[in-house]
Amino acid sequence: MSTSITDVLHSIPVDPLTGAINIPVYQTSTFVQQAPGVNQGYDYARTGNPTRHVLENIVAKLENGIASYAFSSGIAAIDAVLKLLKSGDEILAVDDIYGGAYRILTKIYNRFDITVRFVDTTDVTTIKSQITSKTRMIWLESPTNPTLKVCDISAISKIAKEDSDVLVVVDNTFASPIAQRPLDLGADIVIHSATKYLSGHCDVVAGIAVTNSVEISKELKFLQNGCGAILGPWDCFLAIRGIETLELRYLRQCENAFCLAQFLAKHPAVDKVHYPGLPYHKNHEIAKQQQNGLFGGMISFSLKNDTIENAEQIVTSTTYFKLAESLGGVKSLISLPCKMTHVGVPREKRLASGIQDSLIRLSVGIENVEDLINDLKNVLGQS
Ligand SMILES: *Cc1c(COP(=O)(O)O)cnc(C)c1O
Repeated sequence: MSTSITDVLHSIPVDPLTGAINIPVYQTSTFVQQAPGVNQGYDYARTGNPTRHVLENIVAKLENGIASYAFSSGIAAIDAVLKLLKSGDEILAVDDIYGGAYRILTKIYNRFDITVRFVDTTDVTTIKSQITSKTRMIWLESPTNPTLKVCDISAISKIAKEDSDVLVVVDNTFASPIAQRPLDLGADIVIHSATKYLSGHCDVVAGIAVTNSVEISKELKFLQNGCGAILGPWDCFLAIRGIETLELRYLRQCENAFCLAQFLAKHPAVDKVHYPGLPYHKNHEIAKQQQNGLFGGMISFSLKNDTIENAEQIVTSTTYFKLAESLGGVKSLISLPCKMTHVGVPREKRLASGIQDSLIRLSVGIENVEDLINDLKNVLGQS
């Protein structure tokens, strides 16, 4: 199933003008025409830019889609996909959806009479019973943030297709196309916050939407140009540069995270460890299959002494794990969801979805794993 990284790297064209091995940053807003309406494939940079096209081509390849479109952020890519809907339509969405997606759905798209219902997507039968005649889209994340829940993308896509017209969208930010390719599993659209693993160095905010349908591709292209939230050429260059090492980085991050999850699972100060690679994870077998044997670089865990104060002490005391939001970069990050990413979610709702007060999230980087283990030993106590 894997896309050859050789193919991805070498589909980045050598510059025909100079032989530059990297795609130039075409920092231009307009393109000179030979005659009115006669040009070399580009007329105005919102509509098309050569640097952006290279990024869009390689991400389409990585996800095994026919086309992809780059946006100024992950949220802008989500926004474009939601604009495929019209007033009166309904979305079924994963219940612990990314916070920014929750906000755009419940506080912005509700103004246009597009409604959303949140469902437990870890259980396929629930979804089936929730589809109505108004349902037009199923919105999935797998693994989810921050409790790493996994759903069966292939089974859900089958259900969506049985019920005619329901589009399946997967936010593939956490798994990355190295572990998981939702279009191969039956999904219609994949979105990424390219800010995270794709770019991988915490130096750019970017989003991308990929599809394998000609019809959806035309619509997304129309929306990208029509609404205008394009990714600028310099950021496209950085994203391309990041993607060149995506596979190397991601494999190392998975390896490191696997070791850390095992270490945490045995540590006496730790209560629960959420990681799809652990055999007792609810959907471990599905994760193993659909994620190509890779379980990702994200882990979350709670403490036996389940207080915010205890967790706060820990997240502010690590050396290598830096206290910050975001994820997927080469340097390890640590965060406290209840006071950071999920501060807007009422405590009851947080607890119901497994976000305990002491739940700590790790984005594991590419450091030497012994250093990361020692860093955690220093703050949790020697095990
Ligand atoms: C960060 C993130 C987004 C939003 O992306 P931005 O680039 O921050 O706009 C969407 N989905 C997931 C899973 C994310 O982690």
